[in-house]
Amino acid sequence: MKKFDFHIHTCCSKHWLWGVDGLSSPREIVETAVNRGLDGIAVSDHNTTKGGLLAAKIAKKIDKNFLVIPSIEVKSRSGDVLGIGVLEELTIKSRSLTAAEAVGQMREKDAVVVAPHPYGREGLGSLVEKLKFDALEGFNAHILPRYNTKAKELARKLKLPTVASSDAHIAEEIANGVTGLDIDELSIDAVKEAIRKGKTKIIQEKHTKSMGRIYSKKIGILFRAIKPPPCGET
Ligand SMILES: [Zn+2]
Repeated sequence: MKKFDFHIHTCCSKHWLWGVDGLSSPREIVETAVNRGLDGIAVSDHNTTKGGLLAAKIAKKIDKNFLVIPSIEVKSRSGDVLGIGVLEELTIKSRSLTAAEAVGQMREKDAVVVAPHPYGREGLGSLVEKLKFDALEGFNAHILPRYNTKAKELARKLKLPTVASSDAHIAEEIANGVTGLDIDELSIDAVKEAIRKGKTKIIQEKHTKSMGRIYSKKIGILFRAIKPPPCGET
């Protein structure tokens, strides 16, 4: 069984207040994920595929047996929509789309469309039932356990597969949520097909303990005491 973390942010992910959203460079993200024994990750920055495309390029040089799936977490007007496997450069203006439009655009790009943290902050809540998702995040390491339990219940009700994700905003969080996939070949197409067919298994659920560290770093960057890492190849 191959192991994946399907929701990770790099410093190419931006935030309206803090400037940066993710605190690790694409290279740090890839190196940490390889060291943690994962077979692959989806790099899903807010509203851009830039970090994912950079991470995929870096991964090809570091480890041929490691798969980076360029992805995007679209901030729609009603909450977040995760598109796993968007292989082109794409930037979407924050909150410019409705949730239905975000889902439609992800489908057009042939992404696997996932509802991340449905009951957490920026989750779509009951809107998930009205839109067509391929899967739900049954575990998101940033979300309170009771909301993850509710997400799993919703997935059962809608007969949708679940994935587990760290939603890492700093490299040390990687693999806090791990999804096992029953695939023979390590390719983006194989991953997409396995999720769509529901061949997923949540194999790691570790609630994040890094929130304090993340915010102290963000405050440091905001007040220019810490330099943010580069959104580049180095
Ligand atoms: Zn996220």
